[in-house]
Parts: sequence; C-alpha cells; structure tokens
Amino acid sequence: MPPVRFHDPGLSYYTFADAAMVRCPRCDRVAHYDLRVHPEARVVCRSCGLCRTRGCRPPLWLRSETRHGEIWAYNLEHLDLIRRFVAAELRERGPWYEHGRKMTAVARLPAWIKSAKNRTEVLRVIDRMRASVIAG
Ligand SMILES: [Zn+2]
Repeated sequence: MPPVRFHDPGLSYYTFADAAMVRCPRCDRVAHYDLRVHPEARVVCRSCGLCRTRGCRPPLWLRSETRHGEIWAYNLEHLDLIRRFVAAELRERGPWYEHGRKMTAVARLPAWIKSAKNRTEVLRVIDRMRASVIAG
C-alpha cells in the first residue's frame, strides 16, 4: 500500500472565512453566513428562520475542545482539508514553502494537530464535528 499523500493546495484561511457555519444565536442550531452572497454578513438559520445582518457575530459551529487545544473550522470544506492533512502519512508542500508564503490554512495548524502521535484522536474529534452538522 502506498502511503496516503496530502498535497497542500495552498489555500489561506481567508478562502474559507467567506462562508462559515455558525451557532444560531436564537435556536442554538446550525446557521450560516456567506459573504460571497451577502457581503453584509447576514446570518441565516434554516431551523428557526432567523435572518440577521448587523451586529451579529455568532461563534463558529465547527469547534471542539481537546486536551491539547481547540480544533475549529469555518465550514465543512475547511474541516475536510484539515482531515485529509491529518490523515495523510506523506505531506507534500508546495514550492511556496521555500518562498516565504507559509500562511496556508494547513501550514498554520498548531503542532499538536500535525503530530502523528495525536492522529487517531484528532481524526476522531474531526469526525464527531462533521457528524454534529447532520445532527445539528
Ligand atoms: Zn436558528
């Protein structure tokens, strides 16, 4: 079996920050905002029909506390990128690593998330987070 490879697509946090899953401030279930659709940061909740624009910065939905620290993601695409990175045994870096562009979303992950000895635990937490979207 060849090792599972991961190639960093070089995406920054900002790529994912445009569309995030957040905790609905009214009903506590999964709500969303999408700056590409609503630049005014409108938070929309399909569960309770909330639609709020100004002064609304609810916490991210995808966040989980572990004994090492917090794992969080803006959305499922972001979480999936982190998961693929953690699951990979062979992590390939783009040429930008050698040219000072090191601030990609995965490059900025804390060392404990990148550590192979925490892999099983981190993957379990990530899978639980993903399941919470369906349940939420
Ligand atoms: Zn709601």
